[in-house]
Parts: sequence; structure tokens; C-alpha cells
Amino acid sequence: MKHVVVIGGGVAGIETAAQLSKSGHWVTVVEKSNQLGGKLNDWHCLFPDFSLAKEQLDWLQSQKHQADLQVLLETKVTSVNRTNGRFAIETSGKDKLEADAVVVASGYELFDARRKEEYGYKIYERVITSADLEKRMNNGELLRTPEGAPNRVAFVHCVGSRDEKSGNHYCSKVCCITGVKQAIELKKLSPGTEIFCFYMDLRMYGKHFEELYRTAQEKYDIQFIRGRLSEAAEKIDKSVQIKAEDTLSGRPLKMNVDWLVLLVGMEAGTGTAQAASVCGSRCESSGFIATADEHRSTNLSSQEGIFVAGSCTGPMSVTDTILHARSAACEVNDYFQKLEKSWL
Ligand SMILES: Cc1cc2nc3c(=O)[nH]c(=O)nc-3n(C[C@H](O)[C@H](O)[C@H](O)COP(=O)(O)OP(=O)(O)OC[C@H]3O[C@@H](n4cnc5c(N)ncnc54)[C@H](O)[C@@H]3O)c2cc1C
Ligand code: SF4
Repeated sequence: MKHVVVIGGGVAGIETAAQLSKSGHWVTVVEKSNQLGGKLNDWHCLFPDFSLAKEQLDWLQSQKHQADLQVLLETKVTSVNRTNGRFAIETSGKDKLEADAVVVASGYELFDARRKEEYGYKIYERVITSADLEKRMNNGELLRTPEGAPNRVAFVHCVGSRDEKSGNHYCSKVCCITGVKQAIELKKLSPGTEIFCFYMDLRMYGKHFEELYRTAQEKYDIQFIRGRLSEAAEKIDKSVQIKAEDTLSGRPLKMNVDWLVLLVGMEAGTGTAQAASVCGSRCESSGFIATADEHRSTNLSSQEGIFVAGSCTGPMSVTDTILHARSAACEVNDYFQKLEKSWL
């Protein structure tokens, strides 16, 4: 029986671990927080089908009961040393593990919207991020004003992505469709609320995304304005005045909204930096872990026997993360088979 250590217990880590244990391997998941599930613990319902994040997570986790799998919570891997094809691993909990392969599934972190000072996040009461909105919806907390449901809500796309100033040149892929999904959810809760989405361009790359975008316009009357927000300012009644340029008509635009939602992007973050560093895996300039090849070997890192799964390699949806995790498990099995053949 082979032993695989998986670093990170989000969607990618859980699915990789489940697949590997189904193949007959013993798996240890090392998760730094106090629970499995990663970001999905905070999401309410998922694009593109509005299925509950909790249900998806329960399903993913239900696989682990059949499995030969141990989970170390509130633990980090502190050292990884490879000798004669085997890994000696130490953790912050002083565990000493021996493993035949390692899978890094340490995920991403949210862009800190305070870095875009012009939007007033954490300064103005009614400026929140898409992640904050998900958490609110998960807790049944609605967006309100003292008068009741908001009259107007605006979403800002590309906050911390495709942006020279924040140093992130890449597209975070999931925020356009997250904005569409959240705007529809708000409309379902309060049909009278006017919703405006300010975008540079819209990237509806996935299955059913374009259809959802059409539904947002045709059924829910959500307005999409091509324009970049230059600033936001809080008014005395706590509403937010925003200034933008409508780049299609070339006209400046000023609008008062009750809530401003910033669609924050995905960054590799300190968790992935730490995991990559102890494993000696190379990272790209974006901070995400570099893979051996962009087409054929997207689960191989720069180190033999160390594999990667999920959004630690770049922004991706839950659907793509599950697929990437499954292919990571296939690559690990392939690696073990090749090792066995080389010993014959
Ligand atoms: C606002 C927002 C909304 C979204 N909504 C949707 C949606 O509706 N539908 C959809 O398909 N996708 C959605 N996504 C994308 C979704 O969140 C990701 O696809 C998914 O979380 C990726 O899973 P992961 O396991 O790769 O990473 P994560 O969820 O980030 O999990 C990584 C895990 O690794 C742990 N970890 C990190 N570093 C270490 C370390 N060094 N040692 C040990 N453990 C570590 C973390 O604590 C975490 O538990 C959304 C993203 C955002 C930003
Ligand atoms: S998915 Fe949309 S909002 Fe997100 S970075 Fe890409 S273009 Fe911007």
C-alpha cells in the first residue's frame, strides 16, 4: 500500500484524497484550518446551477468515510525531504510521516480589497466584497437600508485582477459569473432593486455561463455597463456615490447606490507560497504553482513525486477543480505504476 500526503483540504484536496483512497492507497490530508472544505464553507449557492455549496461539500466529504484516510487539522507541513524516491515529512504538529508521493492542493486566497483604496472597502459601511455577500447570504443576512430593501446596488468587476496597480495581470475567471449569479439572487430577494454591473469586458467562458448572463438581462433586467469605476464616496445617509466612465458612449457617469459590491479576484496567497516553498516547487510570477506543461502535465510540479491539484495552480471553478483533482489522482497512480515497473 502506498502512502500519499495531500496538503490542503479544500475541494481539490478532498477529491484527490477520495480518488486516491478508492485506488487502494493510504492518504493523509494536512489542512491548516480547523475544518475541511476550503472556501466552499463560506459560499451560499454555486454558479451556474444555484446548487447549495453545502450540499456539494457534503457529497465530497461523504466519499471519505469509505476511504483509508486520515485528516490532520490545524496542521502545516514544515519540511519535505526526498531520499531514494520516498518522502520524509514533518508537520507543525510534530508528526513524522513517510510518503511515496505528495499532492499540493493549497488553493487560493481572496484579493484584499483594501488595496484598492479608491473603492473605500472597510472604510465605507456599505462597500462589501463578493465573498462578504456570499457569507451574508449563507447566514440569511439580507442587504438592507433603514427604509428596507435597497433601491440600487452596483457590482464592480475585476477588483484585483487584470490590474497593473495591484500587480495581478491575469483574469480570475470566476468573478464575472459570480457577479451574474449574485445579481440574480439579489433580484429574486427584492425584485424592485435596480442592479448595475460595471465591467471592462465579460468573460462567460463556462458551460451555461452565457445563458445565465442572458437570463440576468432578459428576465431580471440587470444592467451591464461597460465602464471603469474611478472612485466611490460615502454620503451622509451611508449610500455610496460612484463615478465612472461609460466606455461605450464615452460619457462620464455619476450614480448613487445603496450598496457597492466588489467582485474580488483570486490570488495564490500565503498558504500556497508556504506549501510550494516546503516542497521546493517552482511558482509563476503570479504566485500560482508552475506546472510542468500547460497542456499535458498540468498536475506535475517542478519536483518529481510532487503533484498539484486545483486552484493553487491558477483560478478555477469548482467543476474544473474537481476535474483537476481527479486527473491529479490519475497522475499519481501512473507515477506509482512506472516506479513499480522500473524496479522489475
Ligand atoms: C467570491 C467567489 C465565489 C465563488 N463562487 C463559486 C461558485 O459559485 N461556483 C464555482 O464553481 N466556483 C466558485 N468559486 C471558485 C471556488 O471557490 C474554487 O473553485 C474552489 O474553492 C477551489 O478549491 P481548492 O480546493 O482549489 O481551494 P480552496 O477552496 O482555497 O481550499 C484550499 C485549502 O487548503 C488549505 N491550505 C492552504 N494552504 C495550506 C498549507 N500551506 N497547508 C495546509 N493547508 C493549506 C486552506 O485552508 C483550504 O482549506 C468562487 C470563488 C470566489 C472568489
Ligand atoms: S472573470 Fe470577469 S471580473 Fe473576473 S477578472 Fe476576469 S474579466 Fe474581470
